[in-house]
Amino acid sequence: MTTRRILVVEDEAAIRQMITFNLSRAGFDVTEAEDSSSARNLIADQRPDLVLVDWMLPDSSGLELTRALRRDSVNKDLPIIMLTARADEQDKISGLDSGADDYITKPFSPRELLARISALLRRSVPVDDEPIVAGDLQLNPLSHRVTCQNNEIVLGPTEYRLLKFLMTNPERVYSRGQLLDFVWGQNVYVEERTVDVHVRRLRQALEPYGAETCVQTVRGAGYRFSVA
Ligand code: CA
Repeated sequence: MTTRRILVVEDEAAIRQMITFNLSRAGFDVTEAEDSSSARNLIADQRPDLVLVDWMLPDSSGLELTRALRRDSVNKDLPIIMLTARADEQDKISGLDSGADDYITKPFSPRELLARISALLRRSVPVDDEPIVAGDLQLNPLSHRVTCQNNEIVLGPTEYRLLKFLMTNPERVYSRGQLLDFVWGQNVYVEERTVDVHVRRLRQALEPYGAETCVQTVRGAGYRFSVA
């Protein structure tokens, strides 16, 4: 099984370090953020498998961060556990209403935290492992194989990630800037023209199977994946 990545969003250094220490020891790959805005960047860049969000953060609250992630089509199913010092029932309800999957009240033991994380990872669908099928195209995230009518299509790593993103989010137009954020990562500085280069390469790879028509140019807007 691949190492699961967890993002810890907590501004209090002592708590953050305690969590990181325990999760790393349990075999997770842990990254840390001190506020909501750096959390958003890290989520876009690193695609964590689960996020621990503290309720009280210095910029916007953990509730607002959770709501914002849920509104985002890419992160709407991202497993989120909210951490809070507030034990009120009403707070718990607000936390879960914001879209958090679970809720832990401080102080908590490392064992309790690990148990909640394992439970959530088990019940969250491992979307990353399921083959994605669209028309004759099939993409297997475990083997990184792409096939069309059972013929294997060989793609470069960027074309693969681009196709995976598009197949995961069909029938939606993405601008070049959005594709750069989602496929290349928000902190990578490349020109928007780069997107066109990789779209062209992807279409060339799909063309022998007649599947290049799935990657559609939407004039003045960007690109869309569609088998229609
Ligand atoms: Ca805090």
